[in-house]
Amino acid sequence: MNYEEVITRIHQELKSYWGKGKVADYIPALAEVEPQQYGIAIETLDRQSFQVGEAKVRFSIQSISKVFTLSMVTRHLGDRIWKSVGREPSGNPFNSLVQLEYERGIPRNPFINAGALVVTDRLMSLYAHPKDAILNFVRTICGNDDIYYDKHIAQSEKANADRNMALGYLMKSFGNMENDIESVLDVYCHQCAISMSCVDLSRAFLFLANRGLNPFNQEQILSVSQAKRLGALMLTCGFYDESGDFAFRAGVPGKSGVGGGVAAYIPGSLAITVWSPELNRHGNSLIGMETLERFTTDIRNSIF
Ligand code: GLN
Repeated sequence: MNYEEVITRIHQELKSYWGKGKVADYIPALAEVEPQQYGIAIETLDRQSFQVGEAKVRFSIQSISKVFTLSMVTRHLGDRIWKSVGREPSGNPFNSLVQLEYERGIPRNPFINAGALVVTDRLMSLYAHPKDAILNFVRTICGNDDIYYDKHIAQSEKANADRNMALGYLMKSFGNMENDIESVLDVYCHQCAISMSCVDLSRAFLFLANRGLNPFNQEQILSVSQAKRLGALMLTCGFYDESGDFAFRAGVPGKSGVGGGVAAYIPGSLAITVWSPELNRHGNSLIGMETLERFTTDIRNSIF
């Protein structure tokens, strides 16, 4: 399949969407990003790479990091994590507090902020140096040692973390946090501030396309069953209150971040990442969503 031609055409067509969305500004450092950027990178399991536009430019992965921390915690805790976090779409924005009160501090799923904070909290209980552990994990799965935290973004996020703090303390009041909330927020803000390119992210998602097996070093990162479940969660919850629409339009598991990245994959075949910083009203990359819909339609392949 000549993916090069498909993504080059889509890239050309969707550039006209620049200006329709809005770069995230609730984290001031994210608002500094030049909006008119658009990259696509595909990595296939048979070792082909296709890129167009700003595919090698690093950006803030934000909530895409939730896939990595959940993978790390699932490896250690297995099913025990599901006592503390649910597996249902929330139908609410990613930083919403409302459900958490009446569902007694158990977040709907691991991809809304509340759920991701619980996952990061458990990760901190598992690792003496959680920030190093996260970086090491991400470096291993994408096969690139040159991956770092963007300290400027991490600081900016920490200075504007009132809602996430509120989520943390609310869950603590229900007994669903093990660590000090300020420390959890420090690790969480760092994981969101990891800088990666579309190429790095597609490579990092290849183990999911490969049913849990890291194609670069043949390490089984997740069991086949755990990889299936992670994919199902991405399909149903990866885009917050737009998850149903993404499944409907693109038909693949994926995860977005407010930095404008969308990483997705087709099991047994490939991983694809799109980056374009302007977001729609749900906090998902406007061009990213549209790109993936067109891509799976044009190549006539998805999980359905
Ligand atoms: N760091 C962001 C936050 O906590 C992540 C949100 C996102 O990417 N959707 O608000």
